[in-house]
Amino acid sequence: MDDLKIIDGKKVSKKIREGLQVTINELKKANDIVPGLAVVIVGNNPASRAYVRMKDKACKALGMHSELHSLEDGVSESELLSLIDSLNNDNSIHGILVQLPLPGHIDEMRVLKRINHEKDVDGFHPINVGKLVVGEDTFIPCTPHGIIKLLEHEDIDIEGKKAVVIGRSNIVGKPISMLLLQKNATVTICHSRTKNLKEVTKEADILIAAIGKPKFVTSDMVKPGAVVIDVGINRVDDKIVGDVDFEGVKDVVGSMTPVPGGVGPMTIAMLIYNTVISAGRRLGGE
Ligand code: NDP
Repeated sequence: MDDLKIIDGKKVSKKIREGLQVTINELKKANDIVPGLAVVIVGNNPASRAYVRMKDKACKALGMHSELHSLEDGVSESELLSLIDSLNNDNSIHGILVQLPLPGHIDEMRVLKRINHEKDVDGFHPINVGKLVVGEDTFIPCTPHGIIKLLEHEDIDIEGKKAVVIGRSNIVGKPISMLLLQKNATVTICHSRTKNLKEVTKEADILIAAIGKPKFVTSDMVKPGAVVIDVGINRVDDKIVGDVDFEGVKDVVGSMTPVPGGVGPMTIAMLIYNTVISAGRRLGGE
């Protein structure tokens, strides 16, 4: 296809961060509030460490308060829960994020549930998940929220479109499916047990790939002219590649996100967004 549109997440996220900078400055000037994010990481997973450093840097660049709590791999669940309790009670912290995955000896859901849902800027607490499902105002998980913002920014019509999501994780697949449904798409969710996957994905006007397998989506799986959003971040030979075979697919589809530079930067922008919203709510006495 001649007129492929590359959806530039870096550019869109920069625009969003510029808008947030204005709000952050206003909160500080008028109300002496500095939005504060606490990121908790357990263990030494290099990819997770790189993500939290990026989040920390992005917050600090906007003049926010950001603190990184780095815990040893062997930390006990109760120590981690105590740290969350203290962050829940810390008035300078408006957002708490626990970087996933956690080591196997820690119950991930117990940890996520311990975060005060009013500081749950990742939107993973069951209360916030429930609010998302019933369409109440809540913290929308950052990656799916970033995807919706990208589609909106590109003026991509969602209503009435066939959207296919590959992946059903709690952090990407399920929430993006719910958000697309709220925007009146007809949504199909696929996963590892889906039969005839190709037949399903070829029907998609909007295809979201959140699988975690490098270059999984190939040219024979997409509809000509489709919008393809590649969520995947896979390290292959020291390079980052997505879940979509960009080179193969680019000649068929109408628009797509690159990896890197697509969904990734949007995720960080929406994390900052949620933290700023949370700080603003404090102002409203909520
Ligand atoms: P998970 O591993 O939690 O989920 C992967 C999903 O893909 C599962 O639902 C799984 O199905 C499905 N799947 C696996 N193999 C197949 C297959 N052969 N056919 C169809 N479906 C399959 O991953 P995440 O959702 O956490 O992440 C997905 C990708 O997105 C990863 O590369 C991750 O690094 C990236 N990511 C990127 C972010 C960003 O900011 N850009 C943020 C978060 C994640 P089943 O449920 O049946 O096992």
